[in-house]
Amino acid sequence: MDERLLRAVDERIEELAALTVDLIRFPTVNPPGEAYTPCAEYIARRLAARGFETRLIRGEGAPGDCDRYPRTNVVARREGGRPGPTVHFNSHIDVVEAGDGWTLDPFAGVVRDGKVFGRGACDMKGGLAASIIAVEAFLAVHPTFPGAVEISGTADEESGGYGGVAHLARQGFFSRPRVDHVIIPEPLNKDRICLGHRGVWWAQIETRGTIAHGSMPFLGDSAIRHMGAVLAAFEEELFPALDRKQTRMPVVPEEARRSTLNINSIHGGQTEDFFPGLPSPNVAHSCRLVIDRRFLIEEDIAEVKSEVIAILERLKRRRPRFDYEIRDLMEVLPLMTERDAPVPTALAGAIRAVFGREPEYVISPGTYDQKHVVRFGHLHDCVAYGPGILDLAHRPDEWVGIEDMAESAKVMAASLDALLHAAA
Ligand SMILES: [Zn+2]
Repeated sequence: MDERLLRAVDERIEELAALTVDLIRFPTVNPPGEAYTPCAEYIARRLAARGFETRLIRGEGAPGDCDRYPRTNVVARREGGRPGPTVHFNSHIDVVEAGDGWTLDPFAGVVRDGKVFGRGACDMKGGLAASIIAVEAFLAVHPTFPGAVEISGTADEESGGYGGVAHLARQGFFSRPRVDHVIIPEPLNKDRICLGHRGVWWAQIETRGTIAHGSMPFLGDSAIRHMGAVLAAFEEELFPALDRKQTRMPVVPEEARRSTLNINSIHGGQTEDFFPGLPSPNVAHSCRLVIDRRFLIEEDIAEVKSEVIAILERLKRRRPRFDYEIRDLMEVLPLMTERDAPVPTALAGAIRAVFGREPEYVISPGTYDQKHVVRFGHLHDCVAYGPGILDLAHRPDEWVGIEDMAESAKVMAASLDALLHAAA
């Protein structure tokens, strides 16, 4: 391990904290997608001053993209001067809304007790800052190197990434020969390598009834009662069956090491928006349920769907007047990069060198932008690695530790060194 890289990061610790503060001060709240452009321009200015070729690319036509809230992304590239592979660090610049419960200003970037506080400190402006400092430290030690380094700041990860990584990946920004290796500094902790995520299937189920006067419900047919039967069947059969499906995927937290289903929302009958008036007495003719099913690498998506459909079909046979419709809303297949792929191998070596212990390999319970790199970019050498404690993400008084950022910047700098120089 090159001691010069460690020193170069240590010399930049104050700069690392200041950079994190600056990034937090852009209130890049999504939705609606606030302040993306000034944040992307800030990153572009910084990297252009360090010899990067920078481009701002708008996720034109993506959900939410409009002139008031453009989906602005930044991609910066620096050539090393000799042929070689390209290593890309990708961070999302958007954050979720601050919400209630803060004891300090979520967009001030308060530094206290060795931590930087603010919305997005952990998820993931701290990771973005650490990757920038890692690359700058690497460049100070190796002004010329084989290959190229890229850093991107992308939009909309929190809302699916369609105006961000998906948009760029469709245009070839995450494919060979342009890029070979991708590290996403999401907050998985400084000594853990996140190899992928569980799969997702979102669907809407609608039951139908017949409207009638609420004083004579026997003249109608309640869609809400039909949905009640669906929920009862889920409770009796589906939830216990999902609980039994364990996985070899090392998902964290451990409770997520199996299949899960969340009832995302349910709406039946009239609008609840009748205040200050009163509702009128009606039997519900429609009820809609949105389900969020997370599945495992051992499961097939067709099987995941047919499990739910089998329950609905059985209700249709047994329950008088029961009918339903089901509509797919979104699906993402589970992902798990092999541990011996180049990026996890380089990160594991760097974690051993910096911390003197073995890395922990984990899988995220939910998805992140790696899915677009794989699906649209067809690039499989991609994992998430970055500072910050995942549990703090999206919470009030979110923070990231400055020392943790510095240590993970060392891991990133050493991994970059290994990936570029190993190939040369
Ligand atoms: Zn994130």
